[in-house]
Amino acid sequence: MIILKSKFETKKIISAFKNQQHSIGFIPTMGALHKGHISLINKAKSECSIVIASIFVNPTQFNNLNDLKNYPRTFEADCIMLEKAGCNVIFAPEIAEMYSEKELELKNLKIEDKAWTEGKLVDFGTLEIVMEGAHRPGHFNGVAQIVSKLFRIIEPDKTYFGQKDFQQLAIIRSMVEQLSMPIEIIDCPILREPNGLAMSSRNERLTTEQRKTAALISKTLFQVKNFYTSKSIAELKKFAEQQLNAEPQFKLEYFEIADVNTLKPASEYKANQKLIACVALQLGEIRLIDNILL
Ligand code: AMP
Repeated sequence: MIILKSKFETKKIISAFKNQQHSIGFIPTMGALHKGHISLINKAKSECSIVIASIFVNPTQFNNLNDLKNYPRTFEADCIMLEKAGCNVIFAPEIAEMYSEKELELKNLKIEDKAWTEGKLVDFGTLEIVMEGAHRPGHFNGVAQIVSKLFRIIEPDKTYFGQKDFQQLAIIRSMVEQLSMPIEIIDCPILREPNGLAMSSRNERLTTEQRKTAALISKTLFQVKNFYTSKSIAELKKFAEQQLNAEPQFKLEYFEIADVNTLKPASEYKANQKLIACVALQLGEIRLIDNILL
């Protein structure tokens, strides 16, 4: 496994692989890897001859400085996990390799600046203003900014994203389409802990007790799926909100039932419409998200 920090060197090595007719599978990550990330690597291994993972805690997608500071960083353990999984290349740049000072200055880690979207490279429409977009202003600008940079360096044939971040997946699909990037996006199912809690790097910061409490999130989603179509959407929302609000340790940000394509909130069942239930809440200092396809 090769570990690279320079974008030029990464580009050179990938060109050499491409000249040898290799197919390139790419998995962007922020490190602090768990089995969920490794499931993406495994999927890429089964479809591509060279698998590249990036590890980069992207400052421009954080709208909370504390979250950025406290984001778990476990680079050495990550490398061991990736090597075991058969990853071929890790691209782990420093911030200065990915952003000019001017870009960071413009952002100043505050998303209100919207430096990137003002250039009107892409228009995410409602995708970036509902749910996560509404609660983390500018988050998706930062995500699109870094992922587009990574795609331009790596130029993968296929890229792998988890359904855990369903709205992010929609944003990346929209970006790739609007920028005509010849990259196939593969979405991968959510990996969960035995108690149902969706695996996440942020779970590292939960206490054992909090992890037990957090199981109520997925339990609620599974119940909503069970009640699907036997109750109205309004009833499903009411049930989930009441159950989650009844847990004193949770601070519910949103529970939404939305169209899987537009992510616009749904108020009634429509023929041929696929829906997804999405939730975000704060448990202590940790913000957790989860979803389920209905
Ligand atoms: P992150 O390091 O959190 O930016 O995540 C990197 C990739 O791993 C994203 O595409 C995530 O959606 C995906 N991912 C994170 N957690 C899980 C999970 N529990 N199951 C499947 N994929 C996941």
